[in-house]
Amino acid sequence: MSDFLPFTRPLITEDTIKGVVEVLRSGWITSGPQVQAFEDELTGYLGGNRFLVSYSHATGAMEECLRALGIGPGDEVIVPDMTFAATANVVLRVGAKPVLVDVDLVSRNFLPEDVEAAITARTRAIMPVHFAGLPVDLDAIYDVAERHRLRVIEDAAHAIGARYRKRLVGSFGDVVVFSFHANKNLTTIEGAAVSTADDDVAERLRLLRFHGQQKAEDGTHDILMPASKYNLSDVSARIGRDQLATLNDRNQRRGQLAKSYFQRLSSLCEFLGLPAAGDSGHAWHMFTVLFPFERMAMTRGDFVRAMRKRGIGVGCHYPALHQLTVYKAMGYEPTTFPNADRIGKETVTLPLFPEMEEADVDRVCDAINEIAHERR
Ligand SMILES: *Cc1c(COP(=O)(O)O)cnc(C)c1O
Repeated sequence: MSDFLPFTRPLITEDTIKGVVEVLRSGWITSGPQVQAFEDELTGYLGGNRFLVSYSHATGAMEECLRALGIGPGDEVIVPDMTFAATANVVLRVGAKPVLVDVDLVSRNFLPEDVEAAITARTRAIMPVHFAGLPVDLDAIYDVAERHRLRVIEDAAHAIGARYRKRLVGSFGDVVVFSFHANKNLTTIEGAAVSTADDDVAERLRLLRFHGQQKAEDGTHDILMPASKYNLSDVSARIGRDQLATLNDRNQRRGQLAKSYFQRLSSLCEFLGLPAAGDSGHAWHMFTVLFPFERMAMTRGDFVRAMRKRGIGVGCHYPALHQLTVYKAMGYEPTTFPNADRIGKETVTLPLFPEMEEADVDRVCDAINEIAHERR
């Protein structure tokens, strides 16, 4: 059997390793010149007219974004039911209520009309998630937000390099949060960045990132609020600088591999729930497919084991939020979210990362064919 194929793998080059060693030897390893350079380069990548604040992870960044917008107890924030739990957890952590809405079965993104229907007098913000790197219909979401005077925090953890109507996600919009976790399209091992048009929010995010500390010219400092600590290290930023320089190429490679999946799986598409193809703006963070396990007379666990036996790792992104203990306890019912409920039960994340070869896509699709026909 050939090597094990994981569902994702970070791409770290020898040049990056050399660069990291230089930083380690430089005598300055936490936030410093590399973080400054990385923030400047990201700002440039996004077109130059945004405020950019790096963070140690997107979970912390999103929580502090809510705080920076003054969102807390008594407030509601609209979140898709199909996302990683962090999107809604941070709303609970600031004492506000995540109001979950269903998503589209094919795009896995929430729809503007469903978001609008969930607005109440307590709603303060909308948190769109660009699922798997496919941008949400942002023009429509910002139109809803404007009409109801709501803030928007985009969870763009999957969407660095994605384009909505030709414009890079994060180059416009209210508050946009990228994650640079090891599995994301651009990694700093752990890390994140917030892009905003609001200098006031950016300033608060900088205070919230580092103890609430304000430095004075004479080298002393004051503490303006009892903030936590979420700064990025120079070692991480050095990795991020290399990753950013090659991001577009890597995302393009992801797009080619996704196209191959569509070609190879099209003969099975009556049977499988393929994701939306999107346009060239799709960042293809993941390729997630719905399998009718009931019809296949097998469980997802059986399928995962059968793939593993063939040397292929798959993921599950994600269980729907209402299926998780925390959100079940809030009284959310499966019938409110038929699409997310089905996605949560049937989704499988197929291997997709830039170093994969076409032969790997063939191998995955052959394995799916075999397993499906064995059991059907
Ligand atoms: C990864 C991820 C996060 C959290 O990012 P971290 O940097 O790991 O904190 C949030 N939302 C979504 C949709 C994610 O995929």
